[in-house]
Amino acid sequence: MRMEKERNEVVRYGQKLIAARLTTGTGGNVSCLNREEGLIAISPSGMDYMETRPEDVVLVTPECEVLEGDRVPSSEAPLHLAHYRKRPEISAVVHTHSVYATTIATLRWEIPAMHYLVGFSGDKVPCAPYATYGSEELARVTSEAIGDYNAVLMANHGMLAVGANLATAFTTAEIVELLAQIYYQAKCIGTPQMLGGHQMSEVLAKFETYGQQK
Ligand code: 13P
Ligand code: ZN
Repeated sequence: MRMEKERNEVVRYGQKLIAARLTTGTGGNVSCLNREEGLIAISPSGMDYMETRPEDVVLVTPECEVLEGDRVPSSEAPLHLAHYRKRPEISAVVHTHSVYATTIATLRWEIPAMHYLVGFSGDKVPCAPYATYGSEELARVTSEAIGDYNAVLMANHGMLAVGANLATAFTTAEIVELLAQIYYQAKCIGTPQMLGGHQMSEVLAKFETYGQQK
């Protein structure tokens, strides 16, 4: 089976989306890019994450042609592909309908720098305009809105995170959901105070050496 490693990763991170309560039912989708092959492994459309097997994962070309797989690829394949086109440094995309991020997205708000972990995205999490799910229009407006950020809220829909691999994109999606919950709660009882540009620059510089350096 071609791109077995990527197929397994797509299955595993789909299951993690459910386990982490980052999405509900068959909402959301995950993909990763194999640079050598120039192909994308993407979750199948409308399939239970817990029942999806590596052979159900679909291999698509950057032009969105199905190369291998009997399943219909995620309806958001154009959304994923637009991000790979615009961001040559990324190799993974995670799209979710997580509750708090989607709540903020229904207001069409951004998540500002009210907590240092916003640094996982940049100095904020932007919000993309609304467009119908699965449309080229959604792919265009979302990939424009994310710019150089690592995450974007999708108006009246959900959120999307990108990364060098699925582990990074998934962590960013988890952090964005946490940030959205904190922002929502803080707004319920008062006015969250913002970190300044200098404080966020310091955080972003420190993130370069965070954790176990190889
Ligand atoms: P798929 O099941 O086709 O991946 O669609 C789910 C979704 O989140 C649409 O935006
Ligand atoms: Zn969706």
